[in-house]
Amino acid sequence: MTIGSTVFGYPRIGPKRELKRAVEQYWSGKIDEAALEQTARELRARTWAELSELDSIPSNTFSFYDQVLDTTQLFGAVPQRFRDLGLSELDTYFAAARGRDGAAALELTKWFDTNYHYLVPELGPDTEFRLAGDKPIAEYREALGLGVPTRPVLLGPVTYLLLAKSTVPGFEPIALLDGLVEAYVELLGRLRVEGVEWVQIDEPAFAADRSPAELDALRRAYRTLGGLPGRPKLLVTGYYGDLGEAFGILAESQVEAIGVDLVSAPDASVTVPAMRDKILVAGLVDGRNVWRADLHAALAKAASLLGSAREVVVSSSSTLLHVPYDLEAETLDPDVRARLAFARQKVREIVLLGQALRTGADGAWADEARRDLPQPRRDDDVRARVESLKPEHRSRAPYPERAAAQQERLGLPPLATTTIGSFPQTGDIRRARAAVRRAEITEDEYGQRMRDEIARVIDLQEDIGLDVLVHGEPERNDMVQYFAEHLEGFTGTEFGWVQSYGSRCVRPPIIHGDVSRPEPMTVAWSTYAQSLTAKPVKGMLTGPVTILAWSFVRDDQPLADTAAQVALALRDEIRDLEAAGIRIIQVDEPALRELLPLRHKDQAAYLEWSVGAFRLATAGAATGTQVHTHLCYSEFGEVIGAISDLDADVTTIEAARSKMEILEGLDFPRGIGPGVYDIHSPLVPAEDDVVALITEAVRAVPGERLWINPDCGLKTRGYAEVEPALRNLVAAANRVRADLR
Ligand code: GLN
Ligand code: ZN
Repeated sequence: MTIGSTVFGYPRIGPKRELKRAVEQYWSGKIDEAALEQTARELRARTWAELSELDSIPSNTFSFYDQVLDTTQLFGAVPQRFRDLGLSELDTYFAAARGRDGAAALELTKWFDTNYHYLVPELGPDTEFRLAGDKPIAEYREALGLGVPTRPVLLGPVTYLLLAKSTVPGFEPIALLDGLVEAYVELLGRLRVEGVEWVQIDEPAFAADRSPAELDALRRAYRTLGGLPGRPKLLVTGYYGDLGEAFGILAESQVEAIGVDLVSAPDASVTVPAMRDKILVAGLVDGRNVWRADLHAALAKAASLLGSAREVVVSSSSTLLHVPYDLEAETLDPDVRARLAFARQKVREIVLLGQALRTGADGAWADEARRDLPQPRRDDDVRARVESLKPEHRSRAPYPERAAAQQERLGLPPLATTTIGSFPQTGDIRRARAAVRRAEITEDEYGQRMRDEIARVIDLQEDIGLDVLVHGEPERNDMVQYFAEHLEGFTGTEFGWVQSYGSRCVRPPIIHGDVSRPEPMTVAWSTYAQSLTAKPVKGMLTGPVTILAWSFVRDDQPLADTAAQVALALRDEIRDLEAAGIRIIQVDEPALRELLPLRHKDQAAYLEWSVGAFRLATAGAATGTQVHTHLCYSEFGEVIGAISDLDADVTTIEAARSKMEILEGLDFPRGIGPGVYDIHSPLVPAEDDVVALITEAVRAVPGERLWINPDCGLKTRGYAEVEPALRNLVAAANRVRADLR
């Protein structure tokens, strides 16, 4: 029996976010474990039914929160502090995910270069792995009970260890490999007894650069697992990029099949002699974007690989976790819709490709593989502008000149205080937004409520004594969605939810054509705010890279071109803000590092266009206009050069939790605002603690270039914390300022 056609994974939150709702109801005590399990079972059954046309159907792709945490629990590595709580297995699991009774949650971190986040395993020299659970076995049985034989999917042992963090300085979790592989051996034995024919093991860590020692760990792991007598057949995948050297290592092992991502890495080399007696599972349908596949091209690619492996089968390029469920649920512009495929439509594409590859194209193929799709929205003006760009469009006057002009105009004190943009999104704000969406209030009433909110936020900031104010962003549900709704070339969806982490989902906008700005997007809010105060109010924009990172992007032109179009829209917005009297403009780029390619060799080209897009957006600003940017992290590491190249006058970053360590040895040439208030925590920072942080910071950065601000926006916090925290922040800045004189 062959694998035929398959997918590497599937969404699990439910087409209408059923799992989110059930899990949150369970957390708040509204439903019990049995009811939660019932919802989970229904969702799994529905997934298997939806995948029924595939030749090989995965299982264990479901998760109550995260597949990495599932693996941690499966192999008995849940940290002691959660087990000490004495809770049920399910509640221990959720405690590790969310924290409980003083036991801090596991750290949440980005999953490769996607918008998914996983819970970081905490491992130490004493960690002992053992098969402590039976989730993959139970899900296999459950599917079989429904008449569906499945292929359990496991996170691979090497990737698991590479994603973990050590509880002991100097210890490398990969040292635990042999013990973990033994636990996988036991699991494979159990699955064999169940009658499982194929098991999929995911090793996406090898789509990134890996050291020789790490590659050797892969070799050892699959020598052991591949060499096991009487085991299920193994499909090892490595998606999100090119497996590089790891491909050869897997090909040399005794595993039966290797799965590769031929969308992220169309040129990946998969024709090594050792593949001759193996199955190549070719990921040809994009698992991370929402466009219909070019079935003719995919079929030609699959056919071209036929000689290099014993067998070639078709799959999604990665798990489909990163795309919405079903296009059928949407009402969209027909020209856009005709170009789209969500998870369910992608499964159909894979089925068709599999059939065409084996038995030749038939009638259904001819119908569905047609290529006369509507063309993307075209805007000749924006295209001509991008074409005619010159280097000077990306550069401003030298920093010293700008700094002098801005100081002259703004007259700010040293250690200027500000915030990152948003103020708490209160229930009132959210209710007003819901009401206008349902047409229960008019646009005018909505505008009035937002202006009232802005006036309140300005008053509060005046009263607290901040130096540079913000309007508070009440009108923004989300910092990307807001701009997507105001730009041409974007569309939103109604049910296009994608899991970000746990029960948290996002609904990325789709960039379907050329981008342009029909009218100003933020000017009315910012100028209203500025009209209420003599202090400078920052205009607040989301940067081009972040807008791309949190959207589904076009795949018919380079990302750099789309970024340039978005940048031009922002550039025009900045010009309008300036004309309306706004003197400081912040362009947030929290996702700059997020999109950084996994492989070092691809990074320079990425940084070139992404930094270029930011500069294109901002370099039209006058010398006397102060450009700020904000990044949501402090580990600059590999991107420090790029951040400096953004050439912003002021860069605000996260630093409170790392106690200003970031500033050590950092020779940042322009203004910098290392956060002194950790907004991820509900704690109000004490004035003395903030003084200590600022005192630390002034050792590294001269007062005129040092800004005092929180780590990030305040929208997820409540006023009960925010107001005292900001008062302490201002009082602390004043104290240190007095000492400076
Ligand atoms: N200006 C945004 C805010 O304050 C920035 C958010 C972010 O960095 N993620 O909410
Ligand atoms: Zn931030």
